Amino acid sequence: MATGLLEGKVALITGAARGIGKAIALKLASEGASIAFTDLKEDDNFRNTVAEIGALGVKCRGYASDASDYEQSHNTVERIHKDFGRIDILVNNAGITRDGLMMRMSELQWDSVITVNLKSAFNFTHAVVPVMARQRGGSIINISSVVGVNGNAGQCNYSASKAGLIGLAKSIAKEMGSRGIRANAIAPGFIVTDMTNALPQEVRDEWNKKIPLRRGGTPEDIANVALFLASDLSSYVTAQVIVCDGGML
Ligand code: NAP
Repeated sequence: MATGLLEGKVALITGAARGIGKAIALKLASEGASIAFTDLKEDDNFRNTVAEIGALGVKCRGYASDASDYEQSHNTVERIHKDFGRIDILVNNAGITRDGLMMRMSELQWDSVITVNLKSAFNFTHAVVPVMARQRGGSIINISSVVGVNGNAGQCNYSASKAGLIGLAKSIAKEMGSRGIRANAIAPGFIVTDMTNALPQEVRDEWNKKIPLRRGGTPEDIANVALFLASDLSSYVTAQVIVCDGGML
């Protein structure tokens, strides 16, 4: 009988009540992984995600937790480890934008984006790595962005946070490779979610013109790459950035 690629594995995904994180959680669950996910608050999106993943027949639990908070993140990982017994896959996905040109960017805009996008990945990786080291294996996936590779006018805070996630993944890969822990980053291009739907139509049309495949990506496009990196299909892939952008970059 065929079994899923992630049977017996436990995946932890941050910021997964909607958007790309939710699509990744559903994809990993569809291959048999048990799912622990976090999000800021236990709202309708949160409850629907628990129900949709549970309907796939895997264990799923959501945890209301601010990924940018060091204490909360460590407590959440401790609870997840207790509830699930192991953690094999960590997807650092939680992220926000607070766009603006450098000349007009406030300290708050800078600090909030760096804290939610980059420090959250430190918080969760720091808490999860000892668990994975004891298990002698694990896969860490940071959700970066093409603008973390190339930069983008009006997004110096966001681009810096996303470039930081690449540096973090590459460094963890070097530090933890001998313990069987792999760490990689995905750099999505323009993906159709609430985050990009918030942009004006003209901006979205401009982005689409730059994409050789002539469409925005779907959260599932990113989830497919995450499945590859989470599973043993990528057992010799570490310290890499996989760009998934319809050829835009
Ligand atoms: P989204 O639709 O805005 O979803 C973001 C999720 O993160 C939401 O569920 C949000 O919770 C959660 N979140 C925000 N701050 C959090 C915190 N402090 N702690 C825990 N959870 C938090 O965004 P998305 O488009 O799916 O993006 C997901 C990731 O992909 C982000 O890191 C983003 O930067 C990256 N990315 C997106 C694109 C794109 O085109 N969409 C491109 C490249 C990279 P609430 O529901 O409570 O707000």
